Amino acid sequence: MDVHNVDLTISAVDPKQYPNTQFPEIAFVGRSNVGKSSLTNVLINRNGYARTSSQPGKTQTLNFYNIEDKLFFVDVPGYGYAKASKVSREKWGKMIETYLTSREQLRGVVALVDGRHAPTADDVSMHEWLTYYGIEVLTVATKMDKIAKGKWNKQESIIRKTLDLDASERLILFSSLTKQGKAEVWQWIEGRMHQ
Ligand code: GDP
Repeated sequence: MDVHNVDLTISAVDPKQYPNTQFPEIAFVGRSNVGKSSLTNVLINRNGYARTSSQPGKTQTLNFYNIEDKLFFVDVPGYGYAKASKVSREKWGKMIETYLTSREQLRGVVALVDGRHAPTADDVSMHEWLTYYGIEVLTVATKMDKIAKGKWNKQESIIRKTLDLDASERLILFSSLTKQGKAEVWQWIEGRMHQ
């Protein structure tokens, strides 16, 4: 999709605040610092709209971005932030659980993992959890420009194996610097919009 118009419609903490529209929604999840804002910015051709996080783990709201009056990107606060208090982690868990399990407009989740490493225990739990609820997931491995091309295949199979992806599940190798993978991510999102 060629994106020109993007608005932050609302930063919600409570279902009553979710936008009252029928646009399809795609949510983005991943550990703090995984490259979620960078991926979003590449998808919408911006440099600064979805703020890159100088204070990881701080934003504890679901941010609904209206894309061209056609769909919403829902930015889910990053997980795995060690300094977050137990209370705020529990609140985070409840908020995203409520959204991901009850939102009819949700068409799929883009789940980011750091392409340089094996997925963490938190990444594995997130993937298992989404799968358990029957949510459509696209896994995106970020920061691939930091790995030599000769190692991509090996890295891809480590990620697939650690997350236990089956053959039908897509894994896209992405870099916000080279924009590789952008078209594939959009293709998946557009495919989900018409479900
Ligand atoms: P977020 O916390 O998940 O939103 O992560 P950010 O998008 O803010 O990125 C965290 C850090 O990783 C920043 O310093 C980014 O510049 C860097 N980063 C994100 N994506 C990439 C990428 O594809 N390649 C490289 N080299 N750095 C990246």
